[in-house]
Amino acid sequence: MEAGNEAIFLDGGTGIVSPPNLGNRPIHILLTHLHLDHLIGLPFFPPLSQKGRQIDLYSERRMDTDIRAMMNRLFAPPFWPLRLEDYPSDLHYHDIEGSFRIGDVDIQIMSAAHPGGSTVFKLNYKGKILVFATDFEHLDNKSGELAEFAANADLLLYDAQYTEEDYEPHKGFGHSTAEEGIRIAEKACVKQVYFIHHNPDYTDEKLLAMDEKLRVLHPNMAIIKQGTRIIL
Ligand SMILES: [Zn+2]
Ligand SMILES: [Zn+2]
Repeated sequence: MEAGNEAIFLDGGTGIVSPPNLGNRPIHILLTHLHLDHLIGLPFFPPLSQKGRQIDLYSERRMDTDIRAMMNRLFAPPFWPLRLEDYPSDLHYHDIEGSFRIGDVDIQIMSAAHPGGSTVFKLNYKGKILVFATDFEHLDNKSGELAEFAANADLLLYDAQYTEEDYEPHKGFGHSTAEEGIRIAEKACVKQVYFIHHNPDYTDEKLLAMDEKLRVLHPNMAIIKQGTRIIL
């Protein structure tokens, strides 16, 4: 996300390996949680190798442990030769709770139903609101809670790992469906929705067919593709 002078990344999966040209902008990385698919791109994030480059990384504490200690457990020998803080950049870790601010962006958090926990982020930049709800399962009262949290958002990025049919045998795995996302978005009067965190077993053909079907009934919703650029 580009907002004013800030470059804000949502998680550090493989997408973070090839960032757009960021100039000298301050870099911030918000982590929803610490599952590998959300971290595995971090050691290959090019700005980490730029001497003195300021990078700020934010996460809620997990298992009663601060984010720095957690990252130094994962990115350390023998799994990886360096800790992230040993790279030439100037990396700072931040444990977050409640709401906080990055430049002119106001950020609020909500907890998701996901094994080990996950954070839903709401980013508000000059009244434009983005809600990032990945690794979110619609268990308990979470759909209602998210509909309130995302009320009138300009953009919702929503976990749609499963079709409704595939969801049933994967209940409790911590993911959701496009159908549930549609219900939440309509309740919340969200302007635009992109479905994310596709099932790695689904082929491009299957995702394109889902996208086509979706757009007929919901022209403001789509399955996200790599490289999609959204201006709010
Ligand atoms: Zn996860
Ligand atoms: Zn995930």
